[in-house]
Amino acid sequence: MSAHIIDGKKIAELVRAEWKVRAEKLTQLGTKPGLAVIIVGDNAASGIYVRNKVKACNEVGIYSEVHSFTENAQQNEVLNCIQALNENPHIHGILVQLPLPPHFENNRVITSIAIEKDVDGFHLYNVGALVTGNTVFSPCTPYGVMVMLEKNHIPIEGQHAVVVGRSNIVGKPMALMLLEQGATVTICTSKTSNLPHFTKNADILVVATGKPRLITAEMVKPGAVVIDVGINRLSDGKLCGDVDYDSVKEIAGYITPVPGGVGPMTITMLLCNTILAAERAQAGIKNGKSS
Ligand code: NDP
Repeated sequence: MSAHIIDGKKIAELVRAEWKVRAEKLTQLGTKPGLAVIIVGDNAASGIYVRNKVKACNEVGIYSEVHSFTENAQQNEVLNCIQALNENPHIHGILVQLPLPPHFENNRVITSIAIEKDVDGFHLYNVGALVTGNTVFSPCTPYGVMVMLEKNHIPIEGQHAVVVGRSNIVGKPMALMLLEQGATVTICTSKTSNLPHFTKNADILVVATGKPRLITAEMVKPGAVVIDVGINRLSDGKLCGDVDYDSVKEIAGYITPVPGGVGPMTITMLLCNTILAAERAQAGIKNGKSS
């Protein structure tokens, strides 16, 4: 039997419609949500991501501005820009598009963002908050995966979730969020010996490796929920995920396609986090505490 296809585009539209109402309500109260995006250098992919973010902001009623720096910009110029945005009451979310050029210190830049404006959830404080179950902002990609599971009424508590990949932006926060919801979590990496042994035991399998079609049908438990975070550009120009979609969809219970799966959810959750930040600012809440 073929798997139920989890339509990320459709869920993203539903979630955006829900949050657009919240953005409108805030705007009526005098607080239009605002997002500032900082981009350094001329990485083509980053440029596309930033344009997509600006477009998505417009669609849900978020004000956005882009601060572009050349590849040779000094770190201090970017830190000064972040400082000004931290103090700007019209900006509720600040995002630094990664990767930064090699002469930048990622952590120094990210930790200069005010905690209550760190809508990517990458500030070390927010990472710690996530680890201890006191989340301020959930990192967007794993947050999107959690919403996809929720909208499909997929149970998490008591399930065995296997996350393949341990990056700071996807794998690790994904594992923490599943753990927080009561899953028994296994994390696999490039060093894992006998990967199929673990993947075959997953009720929920989340794959974020950047390795095209790494997961094949023989590696999946029949009826499992398979979430493919990977986005890979093949030599023929087509996109594919980290899961061999055609074979795995014949055995899985649920599966996300690439494109049209997790991808549309990531930007959507950024919009949600920005609106959430604006709601907190409106209510006078800082770092999760009333001021
Ligand atoms: P990273 O390169 O930072 O991390 C990849 C992880 O996969 C590493 O932990 C690595 O292990 C692990 N890995 C690599 N090969 C294997 C293997 N053969 N078996 C098991 N584990 C392996 O990537 P990201 O997490 O940033 O991204 C992963 C994928 O998700 C990419 O395709 C990226 O484009 C996509 N992505 C998609 C998003 C979306 O919105 N849909 C958002 C962000 C990313 P080790 O640590 O041991 O090296």
